[in-house]
Amino acid sequence: GTDDAHAVQDQKSVSEAVETTIVNSDGNHKSSVGHTMLAPFTTGWQQTETEPLIIQKGEGVYVWDSKGNKYIDALAGLWCTALGFSEKRLVEAAEKQLNILPFYHSFWNRTSQPTLDLAAALIDLFKPVKMGRVFFCNSGSEANDTQVKLVWYYNNAIGRPNKKKFIARQKAYHGSTLVTASLSGLTSLQKGFDLPVSFVLHTDCPHYWRYHLPGESEEEFSTRLAENLEKLIIKEGPETIAAFIGEPVMGAGGVMPPPATYWDKIQPILKKYDILLIADEVVCAFGRLGTMFGCEKYNIKPDLVSIAKALSSAYMPIGAVLMSQQIFDEVANKSNELGGFGHGFTYSGHPVACAVALEALHIYKERDIVAQVNRVAPAFQKGFKDLAKSPIVGEVRGIGLVLAIEFAADKTTREAFPTKWAVGTYFGGQCAANGVLVRVSGDIIMIAPPLIISADEVHKMVKTAELALKETEKYVS
Ligand code: PLP
Repeated sequence: GTDDAHAVQDQKSVSEAVETTIVNSDGNHKSSVGHTMLAPFTTGWQQTETEPLIIQKGEGVYVWDSKGNKYIDALAGLWCTALGFSEKRLVEAAEKQLNILPFYHSFWNRTSQPTLDLAAALIDLFKPVKMGRVFFCNSGSEANDTQVKLVWYYNNAIGRPNKKKFIARQKAYHGSTLVTASLSGLTSLQKGFDLPVSFVLHTDCPHYWRYHLPGESEEEFSTRLAENLEKLIIKEGPETIAAFIGEPVMGAGGVMPPPATYWDKIQPILKKYDILLIADEVVCAFGRLGTMFGCEKYNIKPDLVSIAKALSSAYMPIGAVLMSQQIFDEVANKSNELGGFGHGFTYSGHPVACAVALEALHIYKERDIVAQVNRVAPAFQKGFKDLAKSPIVGEVRGIGLVLAIEFAADKTTREAFPTKWAVGTYFGGQCAANGVLVRVSGDIIMIAPPLIISADEVHKMVKTAELALKETEKYVS
């Protein structure tokens, strides 16, 4: 086909076509019955002109929609249902706690036993990075939002009130509250919202394939990015920079494992200028990369850590901030002086969420989830990385049980296909039609299945992707 042939297919009509085949197989296209939600991260026309895909039940790595179609849920919900969709022990843990004590808060030194038990379990699990205390919240966004307040409070406590700016990275994803959407380096979260806020600075995205200079090695690329970080710090004034936040492997921005030596070169610079390091482990923690958490994989020594998602395998909403003992001590001292630490949520340390998370941690240990990931990851990575041989795939990148496929019209210049061709959406539609739900973001496809996935199920995902790729090659040719 030519450009002209595609010109009539703008993104909207292609997306509609694809969604129609998935969702409205009975032909009831555009019956907007029951539209009552403002759906998160959903475009207006999708909410008014197409029906939502209603997921009705789940079992193992599979989900079924309301029309009875069965899919492998290749993004584990939103990178979170690590133990799949039918782990009875998590359900029993919730039921048991609901019967004993369905709710208590953790304000004013009142709390409940599962909350304390989970805090202790997390301190133990994160021993390699020496975390001293846990603050509970309900999501990854709340965890990262809390990080900002905690760091500000800490810097006030130790007498450096001007050290308040945050450095995050382009294409990072840290959440969608006012501050965490600002930390995120994605314009789609900021357009229309008057964001980012002014105390957030963004430094380079460590995506070697897209941003390296001709002839530059991964190590040289990492060196350049570390130098750019230092230049930014000096330009802004080190005495104004409080913290650097980063995902060990960048997730929602397009799955970007760090280039060789990246974290080794970034960390000394942060140390040099007394800048705290926050590891956003919301996606990476609990086995995803083939280590219990991402810091282990890359020898990251954070001062603070954010977790959520797989903490409870997503069966209950829960997030947490882990902090070094030193940060806790200073915050505690400051709160003595002020008469309180004025931060917390009704559901901070919710006993049911904590009981479920505690059970999830038990299961991860008992079944050795890290070993399970390392058993299936090689075939997963190889199967998908072989797709990079296609003339329309620019790069397949990933580690453990997470990866991205990025389409490109030109493999060497990395030039993208015209947006209006909606190549990623087309591929995603083909996958769905063949029983695999993937995440589509422009021309990037993201895959991060439940960690319990079997070798056979990995094989089925790869075969489906191969089929979808063949169809997509035809579509763009
Ligand atoms: N941090 C990272 C790395 C994430 O991937 C996400 C969500 O995808 C968040 C934070 C925000 O988490 P939540 O959606 O639970 O607020």
